[in-house]
Order: sequence, then C-alpha cells, then structure tokens
Amino acid sequence: MKIPFRNVVAHLFSCYLILNGKLKILKRRCEKGEIILSVYFHNPSKKLFTKCVKWFIKNGYHFISTDDLQRILIQQLEFPKSAVIMTIDDGWKENKENIFSVVEKYSIPISLFVTTQPIEKQERFWWTIIAKSNKDIINNKKIEELKIVPNEVRIRKVMDNKYLSNAGRDALTFDELMEISDMNNVSIGSHTVTHPILPMCNDNDAEFEIYESKSKLEKWLNRPITHFAYPNGDYTKRECAFLRKAGYSMAFTTNPIYLENTSNVDLFQIPRFGVVDNIPFTENLCRMTGIWYERKNFKK
Ligand SMILES: [Zn+2]
Repeated sequence: MKIPFRNVVAHLFSCYLILNGKLKILKRRCEKGEIILSVYFHNPSKKLFTKCVKWFIKNGYHFISTDDLQRILIQQLEFPKSAVIMTIDDGWKENKENIFSVVEKYSIPISLFVTTQPIEKQERFWWTIIAKSNKDIINNKKIEELKIVPNEVRIRKVMDNKYLSNAGRDALTFDELMEISDMNNVSIGSHTVTHPILPMCNDNDAEFEIYESKSKLEKWLNRPITHFAYPNGDYTKRECAFLRKAGYSMAFTTNPIYLENTSNVDLFQIPRFGVVDNIPFTENLCRMTGIWYERKNFKK
C-alpha cells in the first residue's frame, strides 16, 4: 500500500511535537483541572476509535457526558481533572459497529449529533452525492466550493448530481438510531435536517433546520433534545440566537481551542478537536489533545 507523502511528513512532525514534551505539558494541565479535552469524530474505523479510547484510558483520563459538561460550565459541578468529552457528528451507518460496540464494551458516555433527513429518507449526505457523481473520486474542491455559495445554489447543484450518484445510504437507519439511543451513556443531539452550511441559509431555512431537527428527534426518541452541533462547524451570532430561541441549551463548534477552566465559556460555542479518518494515529493523537494546533496559536 502506498502511504501518502503528507502522512509521512505529518507523522514525523507529530513525533517531534510528542518528543518535544508538548503532550506531557498538556497532560499535566489536564491533571491539574485546567482543561477538559473536547473531541469529535465523524466516521472512524473501529481500529482508530478503539485506539483513541484506549489511549485516553491508559493515560488516566475519564469520560464525561455532554450533560455533565453543561453542569460543569454552569458551575453546578466542579471542573474535573483529566476529563475528556467525546462526540460524533452526522450519524454514519458504520458508526453502529465501529463506535457503539466499543462504547458499550468500555461503558463510556458519548453524544451523537444526527442529521435527520438522511436517516428518515435513507439518502446519501449531500457531499457524498457530489463526491460519488465524480466517478467515485472524492472531489474535495467541488465540495468545498459548494460550502461557500448561497444555500439554494448548493441544493440545486446537489439535485442536479443526485441521479449520477450510486444508490445507497450513508446514514444509520431509523431502527439503528433507536437502538443506539437506548444504550446506556449515549445521548443524542441535533445536527440539523439536511446538513446545510447554516450561515449560507436565509433566515427561514436556518430556522427550519434548527427547529425541525429538534422536534423530529423529540418525536422519534420521546425525550427533550437540547444539544446541537453546527454542520461543518459553521455558525454566526444568528445561529446562536435561533438555537436559544428554539430551546437548545448548548452547541458544539469545531473551533480547535482548549475548553479551559474559566467562567467565560459560551455554552453555544463549545470548542472541539477533530479526529480525522485515514491519517496516522500519531497525528490524531496530536489533534485530539490539541497540541497539533498550538503551533498555529504560537504564530499569532
Ligand atoms: Zn457534520
């Protein structure tokens, strides 16, 4: 198997960060209760997800739920030492085996943010329609271009390409979601109806995505849905206001900064570090512990 050049460079750079003591410093800050690690996944392999979980356990971390996090941030609970919060975005069909079998085995709390329409209609996510319509080559450039156009333009483009993509589903089935939501320690949150780029939507569409996904999940699961994750991590003050109005109490971004023990953490802008599928574990280790991004912060 050919290993991409960027992976070799990223692995070497990650080793440099680790050997340089960055990981040790971070670990000490977590042990002192200065930071909670906040991590999100999309569609990791079982091997990658297990490796991440085992690394946290081996290094003395304990897992906290999103409910616990909220209570910590409103100062009902003490800021914990060596804590990590794990979340998953989208609701990929592979998650059931690759993530939730592991979650069950290790009894760890986790939150899954789902996009309701691909589950309900058993459709592909819009970006895989774009990818699959390009002869199965993931055309990241085309996908990225569609993230910065008005929502109606993106929808039209996706509809144009729909018939070109292979039939099939990307998301969990409704029954799988029910099964997962019944598991101990699992909480479900909203990730909109269709996974649009919210700031590219007009007011009506953005509000619909935020309200409708909440009410649909509440009807399906018969429990309040109060947590949200911004699709693609994109949001403005408008989305925060819509979420508050709709009755959400907390929202997760993809801002790769530390969740620090300060009193000014905005409940609608919770930061998270992303674990990326198909990159070296050393790089993911640096990403999920935030030391990968410190380099950027130093530059500023
Ligand atoms: Zn997403």
